[in-house]
Amino acid sequence: MKRIPYKTYLPEEKLPQMWYNVRADMSEQPDPMIHPGTHEPMTLEQIAPIFVEELCRQELDDTTRYIDIPGEVMDYYKTYRPSPLCRAYHLEKALDTPAKIYYKFEGNNTSGSHKLNSAIAQAYYAKQQGLEFLSTETGAGQWGTALSMACAFMGLDLRVYMVKGSMQQKPYRKTVMETYGAGVIASPSDTTQVGRKILDENPGTIGSLGCAISEAIEAAMGKGDSCRYALGSVLNHVLLHQSIVGLEAKAAMEMLEEYPDVVIGCAGGGSNLGGMMSPFIQDRLLGRRSPVFIAVEPSSCPSLTRGRYSYDFGDTGCTTPLLKMYTIGSCYIPHPNHAGGLRFHGMSPILSKLRHNGIIEARAVPQKSVFEAAALFAKYETILPAPESSHAIRVVIDEALRCKEASEAKTILFSLSGTGYFDMTAYNSYLDGSMTDYIPTDEDLEASFATLPNV
Ligand SMILES: *Cc1c(COP(=O)(O)O)cnc(C)c1O
Repeated sequence: MKRIPYKTYLPEEKLPQMWYNVRADMSEQPDPMIHPGTHEPMTLEQIAPIFVEELCRQELDDTTRYIDIPGEVMDYYKTYRPSPLCRAYHLEKALDTPAKIYYKFEGNNTSGSHKLNSAIAQAYYAKQQGLEFLSTETGAGQWGTALSMACAFMGLDLRVYMVKGSMQQKPYRKTVMETYGAGVIASPSDTTQVGRKILDENPGTIGSLGCAISEAIEAAMGKGDSCRYALGSVLNHVLLHQSIVGLEAKAAMEMLEEYPDVVIGCAGGGSNLGGMMSPFIQDRLLGRRSPVFIAVEPSSCPSLTRGRYSYDFGDTGCTTPLLKMYTIGSCYIPHPNHAGGLRFHGMSPILSKLRHNGIIEARAVPQKSVFEAAALFAKYETILPAPESSHAIRVVIDEALRCKEASEAKTILFSLSGTGYFDMTAYNSYLDGSMTDYIPTDEDLEASFATLPNV
């Protein structure tokens, strides 16, 4: 039998040269982004004032199966890619499971996450367009860091609206972003109209991703034609860029003559899981293989498991185009749990459609059980995982234990989307016992659903 190494790196000549667009193989496309006033599908001309033009093209492109990765982006990728495909031998042994556990580790860059895969592409296309400035938001800080790195490399200015609660928990994230030259503002702030309005209504608020998105868009629009807004998850073009994760994982597994029975990832806006699973989804859509896909989210922000499949805004200020997605309502301010990157009210329209059509499953897990899984993983696999990624680890461990009970040697592949080095406040509250499991009531969610736009 072939001996599987602890880590597999694709050789440079085998690195994927194209991103994969899963929409091209979906028999039912995700519903289009629509205009909040007219409810008509948004056109390129309508979204181009908000986003970088080439990204708008990618956003609306439901048919091109493979898209070339530009040479400059490819060269940047080579500074931190390929990411390793790891076999979790130690974890398997600790769990005494017959399951084979693989993970793709995306934390080996300064942003500590997969976010850089899309950040560098977005900064590249912005530069190509002749822009000088990008504006964005960040929740946990990984996206803001990644885009700071990418903008520094491409010579663009960047302003980042960082969710205030998260800034308090992770002050050094701000320092990293500033080191790369970005301007960082705690959101909600008094630098935008929407920020001032949110502060007036709710002075003590710690903010949310939805608020920060509203501010970042307003700031971008205010700067005129040299500036655009950039988003690090949810949208189709972000999932496209993240397909690099799945393409590499699949090629590495092929080298090992392996194929997953189950693919697992955490889902905040859906980009790491969407990217990881897309080439495997292709096999499923084309009837070649039938792996199971599991999206894992926090019980405190349960869009895929308890949300409505409905058109909704992407932000609290109700300024974005409407997206058809699983949502718990754009006015919902998620409880300040410690997985900042998973506190978005909605979900990628692609993932939402796949879930709606029964192609992927979803599970919600409470916070304390996630940190238990994180600590176990850290002990045996040596990497200190991001709280976000640890949601996936929780379900991987549950699946591996189920395999043990059933004496089934399943092959599990999961996305280890990042590291938790900036999450010591979170780990601390787990260790000192002050961490709680917050789960919204049905009434909480119903109140929020009542504010969904009528489409
Ligand atoms: C941002 C982030 C997530 C959540 O975002 P997705 O778009 O769902 O991937 C998950 N893990 C890490 C480490 C992140 O930084």
